[in-house]
Amino acid sequence: MDNRVGADGMEPNGLVIDIRGLTRVYGTGDAQVNALAGLDLQVRHGEFVAIMGPSGSGKSTLMNIMGCLDRPTEGEYILDGLDVSSLDRTELAIVRNQKIGFVFQSYNLLPRLSAVKNVMLPLLYNTEERFTEDERYEKAVAALESVGLGDRLHHRPNEMSGGQQQRVAIARALINSPAMILADEPTGNLDTRSSTEVMNLLHTLNASGVTIVMVTHEPDIAVQAQRVVCVRDGKVVTDGGDGASQCLERGGRDDAH
Ligand code: ADP
Ligand code: MG
Repeated sequence: MDNRVGADGMEPNGLVIDIRGLTRVYGTGDAQVNALAGLDLQVRHGEFVAIMGPSGSGKSTLMNIMGCLDRPTEGEYILDGLDVSSLDRTELAIVRNQKIGFVFQSYNLLPRLSAVKNVMLPLLYNTEERFTEDERYEKAVAALESVGLGDRLHHRPNEMSGGQQQRVAIARALINSPAMILADEPTGNLDTRSSTEVMNLLHTLNASGVTIVMVTHEPDIAVQAQRVVCVRDGKVVTDGGDGASQCLERGGRDDAH
């Protein structure tokens, strides 16, 4: 897997995401859907970007491709200096583990495992760096402490609030020091207080240099990002600036799946 763009292994232009002319076609013939229709998106290291758009605009399709869960039909995707557009599924799984931390609306923690065991898991699947059980445990404890859950190490998901579960998920997302965090409606299941808690945590992480790309349909969440990107019909229609307000207004009405 030698798809490095920069000779020194560092991405030369400071971009963690460089997507050009991305298309994703589902189905064939009459049933064909162009979920992404020539989408361009660049995200720099250290940015906090919110992606908005009406239901069916292609947000999930884009997140799946950015997260290396799916491959584009056409177009280019350079992730942290690595051309991932042409990788096979096994290679994508490795990139996913090493470069991306996922945060989902429904937390996606394993219910039978304690907080610390949930956070240890991605270290076990890290094929680049091998850690002993003790090392995995110590790292997971440190990650949980960093999200303010040092006193919940041995609690299972159903023994924690939604906000706490999402913080466990964020600790898990950070454990392999990813190039970026992809968050899909991270506050979608949370009450106002827990949403604030989780957003504060994302802000703190971003301030310490973590790149965050978040899909949300809540305008008050989106405005907290540095940059709001609006997607419609599989394309970016506005990117930052004042154009976002139109999208933000719609965001409240539209149902984002
Ligand atoms: P969003 O997340 O913004 O609601 P999606 O990425 O889920 O949008 O969907 C974009 C378009 O692609 C929609 O028209 C949707 O119906 C279609 N689509 C999404 N996933 C599939 C699939 N697996 N098979 C066929 N069509 C799909
Ligand atoms: Mg969706």
